Amino acid sequence: MKIAVASETDKTEPRVAATPETVKKFVGLGAQVAVQAGAGEASRIRDSDYADAGATVAKTADATLKDADVVLRVRRPSAADAKKMKAGAVVVAVMDPYGNEAALKGLADAGVTAFAMELMPRITRAQSMDVLSSQANLAGYRAVIDAAAEYDRAMPMMMTAAGTVTAARVFVMGAGVAGLQAIATARRLGAVVTATDVRPAAKEQVASLGAKFIAVEDDEFKAAETAGGYAKEMSKEYQAKQAELVADHIAKQDIVITTALIPGRPAPKLVTRKMVESMKPGSIVVDLAVERGGNVEGSKAGEVVVHKDVKIIGHDNVPGRVAASASGLYARNLYAFVETLIDKDKKALAIDWDDQLVAATVLTREGKVVHPNFGGAAP
Ligand code: NAD
Repeated sequence: MKIAVASETDKTEPRVAATPETVKKFVGLGAQVAVQAGAGEASRIRDSDYADAGATVAKTADATLKDADVVLRVRRPSAADAKKMKAGAVVVAVMDPYGNEAALKGLADAGVTAFAMELMPRITRAQSMDVLSSQANLAGYRAVIDAAAEYDRAMPMMMTAAGTVTAARVFVMGAGVAGLQAIATARRLGAVVTATDVRPAAKEQVASLGAKFIAVEDDEFKAAETAGGYAKEMSKEYQAKQAELVADHIAKQDIVITTALIPGRPAPKLVTRKMVESMKPGSIVVDLAVERGGNVEGSKAGEVVVHKDVKIIGHDNVPGRVAASASGLYARNLYAFVETLIDKDKKALAIDWDDQLVAATVLTREGKVVHPNFGGAAP
């Protein structure tokens, strides 16, 4: 059984899908692992570290991918990359499938079996495979660090001989995995933190981190959580009430961090231009949802926009800004999943197509798109 770790096609992606730790574990399962030279460089992993863990280091993508039974990646491969793989090769990555049906067709046409890690069901058995959580956690942390770095005042209250520096007021919108980590990080830096969410379950979690919860708690709010624990898209009426509540609040904040997402839908717009303009000069807004359309009016993916003395931070790929940590967690998520696809006695792939995790994540198989969310019938 051959496992390949090629460099990412997108050269701006600093993360890598395997670490020396996971390579060693795959080798322990009887696999031969090939890593493309330089694949781990941006995550501070040297080729020699992979070699010491038991991998062979291949010079080119072709040499790495040829003959591989399993290909580990961070992002979906291009159709051209998929064609370098043998028919039936398993590719595991964050596939970003929504709105990218043509790319999925490309993978199907290349004959690879593609698994989307972000579609992993959030059940207890799959917790160790939850890439959305592992990466969102780091993104939430980094959002606060990025905000603190751009903020030209101190975050904690400081009592000095020259007088008192007041603590920064931080408001976190969306208290999922990223938001909760942002709250915890801002609290560690000494900020006064408030947060909002549309899921009632978030209220207690926010309070347990020492932040104050702010939300329109009407009947719609009480029913807003789906069976999977995700948020629903809220009605126009709810959004209007929410906007009114947060408008007053945002005007008093120094830093606003937005993390609100709804699976498969564009990010809800939560911060209007007028709200940004209500903030004091030097205030910071971080839009962690910028790549999914953004929660903040005026945020731009990959840019720090200055609007009327307020900086709106819209960095792309925020987990990639903590690449070494993000790769470490991502590689472990991948190992935990791929291990379940392997027959340990035969030291070969043995995929149980009826397994709940397999059925939920497989996108393409035997030349077809098979996932029901993307026009497929069944795996
Ligand atoms: P996410 O990234 O999909 O969204 C981020 C947050 O934005 C969510 O909390 C969502 O409710 C919120 N949001 C959406 N629309 C909003 C709006 N209009 N205003 C304010 N907030 C809005 O969420 P996530 O981080 O993936 O987490 C979603 C839930 O899943 C959480 O309850 C989390 O604790 C839970 N979870 C469960 C498991 C598990 O059981 N294994 C693992 C991870 C997360």
